Amino acid sequence: MPSFDIGVEFEVFCGKCGSGLCLQSHTRYSRTRSLPQVVVDPCSACLENAADDAAEKAREELRQEIAQEGDGVEIRGLRCAKSLMA
Ligand SMILES: [Zn+2]
Repeated sequence: MPSFDIGVEFEVFCGKCGSGLCLQSHTRYSRTRSLPQVVVDPCSACLENAADDAAEKAREELRQEIAQEGDGVEIRGLRCAKSLMA
């Protein structure tokens, strides 16, 4: 297809948190069609937040299981004492 090779500068931002991702991005051309591509690494701030959210969700699930099962029960292979989780 006919084309022009024009230099274009642009900025990259995380669509979720708005962090600038220019330093975690690079451009290239596709091997098969030689079309311009942008490769962006995952946003580190969002990855950290997702890990924190997952850890908090897991803690909350365990709290609920312990609250429902009572003291001294085995949950997910661990012997849990409700009195130790307070
Ligand atoms: Zn982000």
